[in-house]
Amino acid sequence: MRTPVIAGNWKLFKTADEAATLVSGLIPLVKDTTGVEIVIAPVFTVLDRVSKLTAGTPVKLSAQDCFWEEEGAFTGEISPKMLRDAGCSHVIIGHSERRQYFGETDETVNKKTKAAIAAGLTAIVCVGETLKEREDGIMNDVLKRQVTKGLEGLSSFQAIIVAYEPVWAIGTGKTASDEQAQDAHKYIRQVIKETFGSAPAESTRILYGGSVKPENVKGLMTQPDIDGALVGGASLKADSFGAIVNFGK
Ligand code: PEP
Repeated sequence: MRTPVIAGNWKLFKTADEAATLVSGLIPLVKDTTGVEIVIAPVFTVLDRVSKLTAGTPVKLSAQDCFWEEEGAFTGEISPKMLRDAGCSHVIIGHSERRQYFGETDETVNKKTKAAIAAGLTAIVCVGETLKEREDGIMNDVLKRQVTKGLEGLSSFQAIIVAYEPVWAIGTGKTASDEQAQDAHKYIRQVIKETFGSAPAESTRILYGGSVKPENVKGLMTQPDIDGALVGGASLKADSFGAIVNFGK
């Protein structure tokens, strides 16, 4: 049994006051939700403020990235240990925007993932093909490379969540159809099975991300290999994120 996860990626949005307003609006909408793991990922600067508001609620806190070293002369970076200290239980790693704009590679994803789980965080590891890669027929090769390299050498998958986010569906309003998403998730689960074994393949939650909204979440969530959603734009409003979290009601 894989507990569904609905995670909100706030990206580069929300000052501390705006974040507090959003969280205060969200908590009453989700406080009675059971059977769903709820995660929000604000910017680093508001983690501390938000963690005080989410304490004692079902809402868990994630960062959007981390570095792999614990501390040292690494100006501008933040470590998994510091994220734990700020109240995080989760961290997003390898988001396509980081791969596209900030030089993230499968190797850095792997280092960050190992460091995150060593520090006691759950890593939400993102994979996904671009439109060109899909059209060129190399989507499965890309997904296989990202999954096998990104998760290489892990001794446990307990604190791993994979997010399948087709790059062409992120922030574009174009959602993968339920069938397209299910096919990719099934393939990713198969790759995990072939590479890491049946137990991690069965237990690892695989989230879909790419223009998830209250209107399309139900169809996605009925697919057998879709275990939740990583939500960008629609996580920035309490009512839409609340409705997505409550997809089963
Ligand atoms: C994301 O940021 O991970 C994402 C899926 O964004 P959106 O829901 O806006 O497409």
